[in-house]
Amino acid sequence: MFVPVKKITFLFLFLAFFSQCFFVDSVQATSAEKAFQLAEKELNRFAHSRKIKYRRYWIEIINRYRQIYLRYPESAVAPRALYRCGRLYEELYGYSGKTYDLKRALSYYRLIWEKYPRSPQAKLALQRAISIYEKKLKDPVKALSLKKKPKKLTDRRKKHSPPKKIAPKTSTATNNQTKTPATSNHHKLLAVEVGGTVKQIRQWSGENYSRVVLDLSKPVKYKAHVLKAHAGKPPRLYVDLKPAKISPYTKPEIPIKDSFLKQIRFGQYRKDTVRVVLDLTSLTDYRIFFLNEPARLVIDLYNNKKPQKETVVATPKIINGDLSLAQQLGLGIRRIVIDPGHGGKDPGCRYGRLKEKYISLEVSKRLAQKLKSRLGCEVVLTRTRDKFIPLEERTAIANLKNADLFISIHVNSSPNRRAYGLETYYLNFASDEEAMRTAALENAASSHSLSELQDLLKNILLNTKLEESRRLAQAVQKNMVGGVRKRYRYVKNRGVRTAPFIVLIGTRMPAVLVEIGFISNRYERARLKSPTYWNLIAEGIAKGIEEYVHSIKLTSLP
Ligand SMILES: [Zn+2]
Repeated sequence: MFVPVKKITFLFLFLAFFSQCFFVDSVQATSAEKAFQLAEKELNRFAHSRKIKYRRYWIEIINRYRQIYLRYPESAVAPRALYRCGRLYEELYGYSGKTYDLKRALSYYRLIWEKYPRSPQAKLALQRAISIYEKKLKDPVKALSLKKKPKKLTDRRKKHSPPKKIAPKTSTATNNQTKTPATSNHHKLLAVEVGGTVKQIRQWSGENYSRVVLDLSKPVKYKAHVLKAHAGKPPRLYVDLKPAKISPYTKPEIPIKDSFLKQIRFGQYRKDTVRVVLDLTSLTDYRIFFLNEPARLVIDLYNNKKPQKETVVATPKIINGDLSLAQQLGLGIRRIVIDPGHGGKDPGCRYGRLKEKYISLEVSKRLAQKLKSRLGCEVVLTRTRDKFIPLEERTAIANLKNADLFISIHVNSSPNRRAYGLETYYLNFASDEEAMRTAALENAASSHSLSELQDLLKNILLNTKLEESRRLAQAVQKNMVGGVRKRYRYVKNRGVRTAPFIVLIGTRMPAVLVEIGFISNRYERARLKSPTYWNLIAEGIAKGIEEYVHSIKLTSLP
């Protein structure tokens, strides 16, 4: 699950391109050439092996090319070897998410155009560097300064990669019509070479919240506008997708009739642009974000104008046995949504016949029972059987149910068989490399698209209950670890961490994701099969939630 399939295919293409250059040059093979050819063979083996999971092998292969440059600095092979170093560091960044890998790629590229300005790799290197500054490091000033490099370097640029067209910014006038802080996201560029198709539309509606998901065949650029009601037409939110084509099987109009939406219409607005129009009942706050692998655009509509349900209300004067604990405490925790990770065609992580989807469901069912009896609140499970539910639907369920807390249950896995322990996450930028890896695993996407998610978070976090989620995560983690330690030895507390989990993006209540152990670790795997362990974990999480509920009560005292 860790190896992102897309990245491997990319590496293959990249190899195919270079093996052609290598064929032409090999006619006049020199010792430098031979060394380069051997490195190419090594790289080919590497790309097909399990070694690509480990950083040290990446460094090994990069060093091999670096040695060629150091040994034969005057040969035509030298800039090619340097270019390889740069590309490999860029690829490695796709896995590691570490900015210093990008910085190293940049220093190799710089070396090429400074030392070998007349080599064909000089232009390529400059182009790669510009792209890194623009797309990865978000440093348009630096990118622009590179674009002003001497023309002799840049004039061949178009041949290799046409400059991406920049979508015009949404005008301030349209931005003013919505209060969402996510407006800067609406003209975000998503790299594409070929057009995408709008395959289908999925939609969930509720009283205060509605989510629309457009499934796309490929990532596309998108731009959103809001139009006020005008000339008998309702207020509209429209999104232009480009380049995109409508699937011939999609209906042009879908009636919705919920509290936000009258209907969704779409059509081929221009030859290369699909326009999706949401006819609204009234102007509302919205948020749009793009998720990759598979490509989809998520549109959340929500109403912040109605008085928000207070998390803490006055303590009722009469306390008697008929009231639940939550009610007795006078707390707004009325409904908790528990999300058993994965299900159906998505088994989650696995070892032999043991699958995460079964374990997460067993623990979730037990947790639901315990929460009902401890807090007397309503508990909703996102699934009660072995069924596939997309990540964005799980979040939608929690929002539609107006849940007060959201708890997602998962099992971890690592290429390092010795890794073990329990951890609890809430949504934020990845706290470390391990957290990044776990999020990649749970999002079922490559860590490359994870760095796109990190960018997305800048806009999303403003609407997320961060502080409450952090406190909930701490209470859950502490009690879960404490509970398991009563019965088991060697229980590792991996602490509270943060990472961009798709299932937590867009949640409107305190939300955490719990990793209850590593299926890849021999000792923890044995526990994960045991109902005793399931009970202890559920008991610990329930106790943590109860402690969190109490803490809200305490902090609200005068
Ligand atoms: Zn999982």
